[in-house]
Amino acid sequence: MDYNRLAELLLPHIKCTPEEVEARYPKRALPEGAKVTRMGPSPTGFMHLGNLYGALVDERLAHQSQGVFYLRIEDTDKKREVEGGVQTILEAFSAFGLPFDEGATLDGDKGAYGPYRQSQRAEIYQVFVKELLRRGMAYPCFCTEDELAAAHRQQEESKENFGYYGKYAVWRDRPMEDIEAALRQGTPYVIRFRSEGSIANKIKHDDLVKGKMEVTENDQDVVILKSDGIPTYHFAHVVDDHLMGTTVVVRGEEWLATLPVHLQLFRALGWKPPKYAHTAQLMKIDPETGGKRKLSKRKDPELALSFYAKEGYPVPAVLEYLMTLLNSNFEEWRRANPDLPLNDFPFSTKKMSGSGALFDIEKLRDVSKNVISRMDADTVYNYIAAWSADNDPQFHALLTRDPAASKAYLAIGRGGKKPRKDIALWSEAKGYMDFMFDELFAPDYTMPERVSAEDAKGILTAFAAVFDENDTPDGFFARMQQLAEQFGYAADTKAYKAAPEQYKGAVGDVSMVVRVAIAGRQNAPDLQTVMGIMGREKVLERLEKCADTL
Ligand code: GLU
Repeated sequence: MDYNRLAELLLPHIKCTPEEVEARYPKRALPEGAKVTRMGPSPTGFMHLGNLYGALVDERLAHQSQGVFYLRIEDTDKKREVEGGVQTILEAFSAFGLPFDEGATLDGDKGAYGPYRQSQRAEIYQVFVKELLRRGMAYPCFCTEDELAAAHRQQEESKENFGYYGKYAVWRDRPMEDIEAALRQGTPYVIRFRSEGSIANKIKHDDLVKGKMEVTENDQDVVILKSDGIPTYHFAHVVDDHLMGTTVVVRGEEWLATLPVHLQLFRALGWKPPKYAHTAQLMKIDPETGGKRKLSKRKDPELALSFYAKEGYPVPAVLEYLMTLLNSNFEEWRRANPDLPLNDFPFSTKKMSGSGALFDIEKLRDVSKNVISRMDADTVYNYIAAWSADNDPQFHALLTRDPAASKAYLAIGRGGKKPRKDIALWSEAKGYMDFMFDELFAPDYTMPERVSAEDAKGILTAFAAVFDENDTPDGFFARMQQLAEQFGYAADTKAYKAAPEQYKGAVGDVSMVVRVAIAGRQNAPDLQTVMGIMGREKVLERLEKCADTL
C-alpha cells in the first residue's frame, strides 16, 4: 500500500508538516520543576462541582511550582454545546477566584499556545493524522452504524470483547481499490488508529493519585478523526497536551479506562506523555437509602456550581471544604494555622485519596461558619452586599442604606478567640439581622415563661426610664440586676438555682424581656451594642411598642 498516496487522497488540503506545527509551540521557558496544568471543560452550559474540584488541583499544582494553569475549551462535540457555554465556564471559574494564566477568553485567546478552542484546531489535528496515515499507522474506515451494530451483536452472542479489533477491524487491511471505490461513492468515513497492542500485555502506569498500577494494553483501532474531520477526545487530548506543554493532566477517573489508548498514541507520535492524576469521583450518602453513591445531576442540586453562588456559599468556604476532601492532612494544618491564607497550605497529590471523596454538605456548612467567623466585618459586609445585590435586591437596599450601622452590627462578636458563628451562607444574613430594619421587623413577643405579662410591661417601662445608649455591656447587665431585684427576680443566677422558690425567676429572664422587645425574638447578639447601633429613638420606640401589646 502506498501510504503517502493514501494520506494525500484523504487529506489533500493539509500542506503543513508536523515539524512546522511543532515549531509554533516551542518548549516553555519555565523554572525547573514548574508544572503546566489545564482545565479542559466542554461548553455544555453545566459546570459541576467535579470541574471545580479538578481545577483546584490544577491551579495549586501550577501556582505552587511557578508553573502555568490554562483553560482549553473542549468543544469537539457540537451536539452537546450550548450558546453561552464558554461564558458560563469563564464566569464560574472567575467567581471561584481560580485565575487562568492563559487560555480561551470570552471572545478570543490569551497566551502563545493557542488557539485554545479545539474547534479552531481542526487543521492542527489533521496534520498529525496525515502523518500517521503516511506512516501506515492510521487508516480510513467506511463502516456504517448498522455494520458496527451488527458486529456488536455478534460479539454479544459469542461473548467476545466489544469493539473494533482483530477480525472485526474490517477496514484495517483493505486494498487501495476498495478505499478509492468507497471514496468515489462518497461514503462517509472516520480515520482509525492502527493498534499494534494486545490485551495479553500489561503496561505499568504510575498515577499521581491512584499510585502504581498495571493497565491492559489497547488492542482496539480507535477512531481518531470523526467523519466531520474533528478529532475524538483521545486524539485531541494527546495532540493538545503535547503541543501546549502540559506536564500534569488532572482529570476524572472515568478516563483511566482509555489511558492505554492515550499512552499508545503518545508513543506512536514519538512524544513523551504527561504525568496523570486521575481524581476520584465525588460521592455522597443518599439521604433515602443511607448508601454511598455518585453525586447525580438529576437528584443533587449541589452538584451544579451555580447552586453555591445562588445559595450564598462563601467562595473561600467552598474552596476550603474542597481542600479538606482533596488533602487528608489539610484539616490538621488548618487547626495549626487558623489565620493563614488557603494558598499557604502545601498541597500535594500524595495526600489525595484514590477512592471516592465523600461530599457532605453539612460539613461544608460547618467549614463555612468557621471561615465567615474569621473574616472581619468589612469583608462580611461586602460579601453580603454583593450576594444580595444579585439575589435579594430589597434586602440589599436596606443593608446598604447605612453601611456603618450594618458593619457595626456585623462586627459584634468578631475578632476574639471564640468568634460568633451565626451564619453559614450569605443568604442567612437577612435572618440574622432583619430586626435591625423596621421594614423587616416582625416581632414575636413571646416572653420567658417565668415572667408575667404585667412584670414584662413593668420591666420595659422601668428600663426605658434608665436606658443609656452609651452604656457598656457590663453597665447594661448591672441595670438588669437592679431591675431583677426591683421585680422580685434573683440578681444572681447561682442564688436563684440555690433557692428557686424565693424568686419569680432570675436576671436572665429580665434581660430576655428587653431582648424580646428590641429584637422581636429570644436570640440576638450583645444587646447593649445592638441598642447603641439602633440609637435612642428606635430603642425607646420598640420598648414602648412591645409594652403596649402586652
Ligand atoms: N473535556 C473533558 C471532560 O470534560 C476533559 C477531560 C480532561 O481534562 O482531559 O471530561
